[in-house]
Amino acid sequence: MRAQIRVQSRQRECLEDITGQVREAVRRSGIAEGLCHLYVPHTTAGIVINENADPDVPRDILERLRALVPPDASYRHYEGNADAHIKASLVGQWALVPVAAGELALGRWQGIFLAEFDGPRERTVVVTVLPSAAWPQTGGEGP
Ligand code: ZN
Repeated sequence: MRAQIRVQSRQRECLEDITGQVREAVRRSGIAEGLCHLYVPHTTAGIVINENADPDVPRDILERLRALVPPDASYRHYEGNADAHIKASLVGQWALVPVAAGELALGRWQGIFLAEFDGPRERTVVVTVLPSAAWPQTGGEGP
């Protein structure tokens, strides 16, 4: 099952919590056991799984990334958003989360975020839910 989530980011740099939308996509898939693959098809946004209980955690992540890759440093990229490309590369464009009993099996304090580095703009997250029944089965007696 494949679905697309649309996310409207609110600032140039922000972590938009998409946990609820991903949970909903997993429920709609009707798949009880498997894997949920998330993919962000953008070059200046990525995906982060981390704490969504204390809002200071996303703030700290963004602040530290900004310190590591400042927007006003010297870059060659002509669009003026080289820092956003680098930050997106650091966090990555995909995540894989187990699905158990029809639900995302996240840790208690974990949330899923679209990591925006060149917003505000509309973004897409591709959600693919793979049933474990589709995987090659191993085990039993070998030849
Ligand atoms: Zn660019």
